[in-house]
Amino acid sequence: MNKFDIIIIGAGAAGLMAASRCTAAHKSVCVIDMGDSPARKVRVSGGGKCNFTNTHADYKHYFGQNPEFTRGALARWTPADTIDWVKSHKIKIHEKAPGQYFAESATDIVNALLSDARGAKFELNTTVNRVEKSGDKFLVHCNTKNFQCEKLIIATGGISYSNLGTSDIGYKIAKQFGHKIIPPRPALCGVSTKAFDSALSGISIPVEIKIGREKILDDMLFTYFGISGPAVYRASVRNLENGFTINLLPELDVLKWLKAQKQTNGKKQIKTVLATKLPERVAEFLAFDTKNIADWRDTELQDLATKISNIKIDKFTLHNLLSAEATRGGVDTAQISSKTMESKLCDGLYFIGEVLDIAGDLGGYNLQWAWGSAHATEI
Ligand SMILES: Cc1cc2nc3c(=O)[nH]c(=O)nc-3n(C[C@H](O)[C@H](O)[C@H](O)COP(=O)(O)OP(=O)(O)OC[C@H]3O[C@@H](n4cnc5c(N)ncnc54)[C@H](O)[C@@H]3O)c2cc1C
Repeated sequence: MNKFDIIIIGAGAAGLMAASRCTAAHKSVCVIDMGDSPARKVRVSGGGKCNFTNTHADYKHYFGQNPEFTRGALARWTPADTIDWVKSHKIKIHEKAPGQYFAESATDIVNALLSDARGAKFELNTTVNRVEKSGDKFLVHCNTKNFQCEKLIIATGGISYSNLGTSDIGYKIAKQFGHKIIPPRPALCGVSTKAFDSALSGISIPVEIKIGREKILDDMLFTYFGISGPAVYRASVRNLENGFTINLLPELDVLKWLKAQKQTNGKKQIKTVLATKLPERVAEFLAFDTKNIADWRDTELQDLATKISNIKIDKFTLHNLLSAEATRGGVDTAQISSKTMESKLCDGLYFIGEVLDIAGDLGGYNLQWAWGSAHATEI
């Protein structure tokens, strides 16, 4: 039997950061991962440049049953702490958008994590199948061998982007000890909808997406399955029970503009007029009618304005667990201490990172949560 003070299941962002803290505290620690290399998601994050934090990270950028759960951890390990940590490894960073920090290469971040976690024992290509508690010890049963520890940290991530290797073992362990699981679903992903023609696929335009009172201004990409791009990714992590609306010309009062065009450009076809503001294929999709704009009644212009600026998306599916960059749902935070990340139902059992019912917005928030929750873990 391999015995350790602490076992961490999952050598991802959260697990590795927790490992570095354990080794710094002179604990014997073993990190178990089913993959053949650690931090596989970090390696591909931010298009290979790892958007490792966002200085706007506060609970308002997180989603789940109780986003306020993140408050303590994010206050104790702030984005400034992350930036200092990255800089301490002499990694070149750049601020792509205000507050949104990237590394020159995601590999640099992985190397920094591994360097800080040296001293931990790594068991790669090792899949955890089940866990049991015997007295105050945890027994961790894997495909290759078994382990024993005093404290067990579950850092098994979510179940999205499954081609990199994911499992629901974190949810199973949580359930076994009495925790509730909020049903997991894709987040930071595209949306399948029939609202647009697949012929528009490949076109990207700035839009406004409205969800309740919240407005998201960002780019949207038309795809073969519906819509994607940063605006849609950001929408997908939010509460979408009541759907959302899209405005394809957010900078304009569309009806007023169309009426003005009727006066000044009356002899032009409406799609020609629209094509001055939108890509030609989008203009044609919205108004393939060959009538001149002067021949459009005001009520028709009103309908067209609605078709452009208030597109209701209420029948849709999130596209999909295979390609989503995050998972919404997971281990209910109600039964976890936000101060220590320890289970309130089982002493010595901790949950950190994306396995919890916490999903961050697009822009470096998920990794900030991984780092923050790892640092909050009481070792
Ligand atoms: C393509 C892509 C790009 C992204 N870009 C960014 C970005 O730029 N910025 C950002 O903030 N976020 C980004 N994210 C999200 C971010 O990568 C994750 O939120 C973060 O990695 C979660 O960290 P984690 O440690 O909780 O889980 P993970 O990093 O997913 O690690 C979980 C680990 O657990 C292991 N595991 C699971 N089950 C078992 C088992 N049964 N036995 C053994 N091991 C197991 C897995 O192999 C995995 O290594 C991106 C995600 C994707 C998919």
